[in-house]
Amino acid sequence: MKNVAVIGAGTMGNGIAHTFAQSGFKVQLIDINQVSLQRGMDTIAKNLDRMVAKEKISEADKQATLNNITTFTDMTAGVEYAGLVVEAATENIDLKLNIFKQLDDACGEDTILATNTSSISITQIAAVTSRPDMVIGMHFMNPVPIMKLVEIIRGYNTSDDVTNTIMELSRTLGKIPTEVNDYPGFVANRILMPMLNESIETLYNGVAGVEEIDTVMKLGMAHPMGPLQLADFIGLDVCLSILNVMYDGFKNPKYAPCPLLVNMVNAGKLGVKSGEGFYDYSESRKAEKVAKQFKK
Ligand code: NAD
Repeated sequence: MKNVAVIGAGTMGNGIAHTFAQSGFKVQLIDINQVSLQRGMDTIAKNLDRMVAKEKISEADKQATLNNITTFTDMTAGVEYAGLVVEAATENIDLKLNIFKQLDDACGEDTILATNTSSISITQIAAVTSRPDMVIGMHFMNPVPIMKLVEIIRGYNTSDDVTNTIMELSRTLGKIPTEVNDYPGFVANRILMPMLNESIETLYNGVAGVEEIDTVMKLGMAHPMGPLQLADFIGLDVCLSILNVMYDGFKNPKYAPCPLLVNMVNAGKLGVKSGEGFYDYSESRKAEKVAKQFKK
């Protein structure tokens, strides 16, 4: 499995492409949006530059990593030789079902289809393909080149062989895979999202300001990043989608998204990627400062 196609070049897709390419895989990075594709490649180059500056990799490693990535806007052409596809497109169920139907037709019969979804049912995604035993969740964490965990989610029909292959492959990438079962939000977001939502609710109720909430959680609970800042990094639209999936999936009001989160997403305030969320990222210096703080 030397060819890996990554679908979506956004926050996660470019990090996943970077990680595979740095481990020597040939990566086909695919996005329907040419601007996102270019932005994704710029981000990879910038992150590699940072690693060169810190002497974690050499200039030659950087070039080799970039040379391992080819970009495509046409999905069918991009997945032609892939032994594995990792889908990291927008967190929207209809969009993902549509992508997996197309992938099932376009990919070879031995190709494993993985999704980086944060919350959507792997079993439901697998059901639109003719190979439900070969569909699996491969949930990387943000920022992908740095975070060690990959949450490996077995759908109802995912085979042992495919699970073992993806666990082993994750280790090859220098990651630590952890196997979980397929229920809304899996483990990571089932626990994280209610906390982020409660932080937003705390702000909404006027209990404290943005910085105060984040300071309490950073200094009081030793979290490396405050929950509101983390929500900005994940993307407020992504947080809202995940909460909605859990709310619908469990039919439990404890997962109902805070109205302030809904309002901010409707207003286009999506966090780092849109330049504003709970914090202002409009000046590049500010965004870099936050990123640096996270990497410490
Ligand atoms: P994003 O909005 O940053 O990027 C999504 C990308 O998908 C965009 O570039 C968009 O153009 C592209 N896209 C949309 N439809 C497409 C299609 N049909 N074909 C190809 N590309 C398409 O989103 P993101 O934050 O990178 O999230 C991607 C996935 O990763 C989601 O499923 C999300 O839940 C999951 N995830 C996100 C995080 C996070 O911290 N943001 C963490 C773990 C998992």
